[in-house]
Amino acid sequence: MGEGPRVPFTDLGAMARQVWPEISGELSDTVLGGSYIGGSPVAAFEREWAAYCGAGHAVGVANGTDALLLTLEALGIGTGDEVVLPANTFIATAEAVVRSGAVPRFADVDDATLLLTPGAVEEVLSPRTRAVIAVHLYGQLPDMVALREVTDRAGVLLIEDAAQAHGARWQGRSAGSWGVAGCFSFYPAKNLGAFGDAGAVVTDDAALAGRIRSLGNHGRASGAVHHQHDLLGTNSRLDALQAIALRVKLRRMDEWTAARVRLAERYRVALGGRVRLVAWAPEADHVHHLVVVRIGDRDRVRRELAERGVQTGVHYPVPCHRQPPLRRYARGPLPVAERAAGEILSLPIFPHMTAEQVDAVAAALLEIAGRGVGADAPAR
Ligand SMILES: *Cc1c(COP(=O)(O)O)cnc(C)c1O
Repeated sequence: MGEGPRVPFTDLGAMARQVWPEISGELSDTVLGGSYIGGSPVAAFEREWAAYCGAGHAVGVANGTDALLLTLEALGIGTGDEVVLPANTFIATAEAVVRSGAVPRFADVDDATLLLTPGAVEEVLSPRTRAVIAVHLYGQLPDMVALREVTDRAGVLLIEDAAQAHGARWQGRSAGSWGVAGCFSFYPAKNLGAFGDAGAVVTDDAALAGRIRSLGNHGRASGAVHHQHDLLGTNSRLDALQAIALRVKLRRMDEWTAARVRLAERYRVALGGRVRLVAWAPEADHVHHLVVVRIGDRDRVRRELAERGVQTGVHYPVPCHRQPPLRRYARGPLPVAERAAGEILSLPIFPHMTAEQVDAVAAALLEIAGRGVGADAPAR
C-alpha cells in the first residue's frame, strides 16, 4: 500500500511535460500581453483543426456539450422535434438534445462494436425526427456510409458526436467530416485535451459555422458592432490560453494516436481472444480513446485489478435512458446497450504507456477473469 497504482488509467501529466517547453513561452507572452478571449491563437487553432478534420470551418466553443447544443440550436432543432442517439453514450449527448427543447429517442447498438447501426436508427425514426447523432464511442466511427444512406433517405440531418474520436476515420474519411457538423470536446482526458474545458464544431457549411459562432458569442453577428445582438445566444467561447495549448498538442496528435494504436494492438495480441474486446471494424481507423473489454463478473474483476494497482474505468455503467432525468424518454428495453453496461471495463491506455504496462495489465486481467469462469472465485 501507499505505492500508488502500478498502472494508472491515464497520465495527462506525461503529455503536458512533453509539450510544456513549447507552450510555456507563448502562454506567458499571451498572459502578459493581456488578451485572453478569442484573438489570433483561437483563429489559428480553428484553421488547423478544420484542416485536420478535413472540414471547411471550425468554431471553437467552451466545451463538447456546448458544441452539441449550439449545433442543434443553429440547425433550428428544438421543441416538437426528435433527435435519435445511441443509449450508451456519455450523458452530455442526451443533455444537449433535451436542453435544445427536442426529445431524445434512444437507439440500441451493435453487439460487437457498441456503435449505432442503420437498423436500430430506422426502428426509432418518426415523422418528428430531425436529426441523428452518431457517437464515435471509444474512438471508432460506426458505418457512416450506411448511416448516411438512412438519414438521407429519411430526410434528416446526421450530426457527429466526435468527442472521443479526434483523427479517427471511416473508409479513410475523418471524424467530423461525414455529418452536417462534427462536435468535439477537448476536455483534458480526451485524445486531444486542453488544460481545462474546451470544444469545437467542424462543418463545411459556412452559414452554419457563422450561426454557431454567433450563438456562442451572445448572438453577435460577425463584423457587427459590439452591442448588436441578432440572436439570443450564450457565452461559449474558446479561450486563447487553451487554443495555444491545443495548437502545440495538435502537432503531436499523429504521434500520440500511433502510440495508442500500437498499445491497443498489443492488448489484442496479449489477450489472445480469451477476454472479449469491443470489436474494431476493418474499415475504421480507430484512435483508441478507450480500450474496452466485456466480462461477466466485471465488478469483481475491477476490484481485484484495483487491488493489484491497475486503475480501470467503466464507460458507462448506466445507459442514458436509465438515468433518472432521462427515464421519461425511455421506450421499451434496449437489450444490447443494457447488457453491455453491466459487462464493459475500460483498461488503461495513454500515449506514454509502456508495452510492459500493457503486458502487466493483460496478464493480471487474464488471471483474474480466468478464475471467475467455470471455477469458483476464491472467497474474500
Ligand atoms: C466528453 C464527451 C462529451 C462532452 O464533452 P465536454 O467537453 O465534457 O462537455 C460529449 N460526448 C461524448 C461522447 C463525450 O465523451
